[in-house]
Amino acid sequence: MPEASDPYWRLRPQPATPSDDICSCASLTPLLLQPHLSPNPLSCARCNLEVPPERIGFDEGLANALAYWLKLYDSLYFLWLDSGEFEEWAATHFRNPSSVVNSRGIELAEKVSNHQRCYLSWFQEEGDDTWVPPTECPRCSGPLHVRFEGERPEGGSLAICEACSIAILV
Ligand SMILES: [Zn+2]
Ligand SMILES: [Zn+2]
Repeated sequence: MPEASDPYWRLRPQPATPSDDICSCASLTPLLLQPHLSPNPLSCARCNLEVPPERIGFDEGLANALAYWLKLYDSLYFLWLDSGEFEEWAATHFRNPSSVVNSRGIELAEKVSNHQRCYLSWFQEEGDDTWVPPTECPRCSGPLHVRFEGERPEGGSLAICEACSIAILV
């Protein structure tokens, strides 16, 4: 871990994702569009670890659009994390299924799905004890289907709206 020996690690270029943080599932599973502090926001829907883009194979235009969307998402995410006056404002963007960050996320998940099925991982208000996962799709109010039941880390599952390409971590 660079953090242990280098007090300036946050000011250094980001190292590559360590191999034990890369998905090693036997077959290519559906994907989550899910920012996780790496330049690549694509994760395995089963093990939740990063899936290298070359394993999926898409064009540079889509890669650029994913990188751009990640910056937009992280901008809001850091405003949310910073708490204080930005927190509630940023949260409204994550809660609103029609916000730019969510509608572009769904659009990108659908474009990635032309190569491998991909869902936008719905924002969770981590640290808020009163947050409960939605029981219906936050966008179309349709039913959610449980997938990977108990197969995810810590026995978790996904609740999915196929029509909207949204996955909620439950
Ligand atoms: Zn995996
Ligand atoms: Zn839906």
